[in-house]
Amino acid sequence: QRLDIADPIRTQAILHQFGFKFKKSLGQNFLTNRKVLGAIVAAADLAATDTVIEIGPGIGSLTEQLARRVKQVIAVEIDQRLLPILAETLAPYDNIQVVNQDILKRSLAELLAPYQPISGQIKVVANLPYYITTPIMFQLINGVVQPDRLVLMIQKEVAQRIIAHPGHKDYGALSIGVQTKMHAEIAEIVPKTAFIPQPNVDSAVLTLTRYDESPYQIANQAMFDQVVQSCFQQRRKNLLNNLLHLCGKNHRDELVSILADLGLAPNIRGEQLSIEQFIELTTAVSKFIH
Ligand code: SAM
Repeated sequence: QRLDIADPIRTQAILHQFGFKFKKSLGQNFLTNRKVLGAIVAAADLAATDTVIEIGPGIGSLTEQLARRVKQVIAVEIDQRLLPILAETLAPYDNIQVVNQDILKRSLAELLAPYQPISGQIKVVANLPYYITTPIMFQLINGVVQPDRLVLMIQKEVAQRIIAHPGHKDYGALSIGVQTKMHAEIAEIVPKTAFIPQPNVDSAVLTLTRYDESPYQIANQAMFDQVVQSCFQQRRKNLLNNLLHLCGKNHRDELVSILADLGLAPNIRGEQLSIEQFIELTTAVSKFIH
């Protein structure tokens, strides 16, 4: 019986056998901690009918755990040097497809095309390379094919900003950008010691789940994004001042009365507004935005 790929002894043996050198520029911090892998797998709430896209399989430690539990795993890895390693470590599994690609250049729709029609749920599970966490996450959230669930290992600070609610210092455009699309939760905080080599910061397992029915109806997404961005532009400025910057100083009187109509104090700050209030605000100020 072979040890799991993630077992520290097996991982070291694989790295040694292939003479693999970590590339910092590709965010290569591999997981060798069974408890953490267990937490990721639990957060993914996997079913035997699921199709899972994994981003950055590395030497396959998480990939293996996924393949044992689901129908199909599509693992997208940019680093060509890992292909011969994955061919060997994942040889026992016939339900894994390794794709040598930059995830930013492949949409979920393209990756899943060969497997259509897909009957089960679509999930993305990844210990992400930290240099491109947010672009990857937004590409996945805003794509044509929306996954049912994303389970992403990312920096702890970023995860805390994503799940933050109004009134919290971490609440901002990032929290709103994600929460308007998916339900966000932190499943587990992961210390840097769980990885080799160790990253500089602690991590968190973030779970994003698709809303059955979105609580947020946004009529004009581009305009909503613009309003949210400007309301957090200068965090120390109050809402009115940030709105004046966006809409033009000549609209001060109208903006003051719009805030009053929405029941918002003139000196309120962006971080105190709920997502619903940002949606109302966008509708109210839309005539001043070009
Ligand atoms: N899944 C492995 C684990 O948990 O041990 C490795 C995770 S490591 C944090 C990130 C992985 O993503 C590396 O294997 C890296 O080569 C790969 N990667 C980096 N940038 C990528 C990109 N743009 N597209 C696909 N994979 C990428």
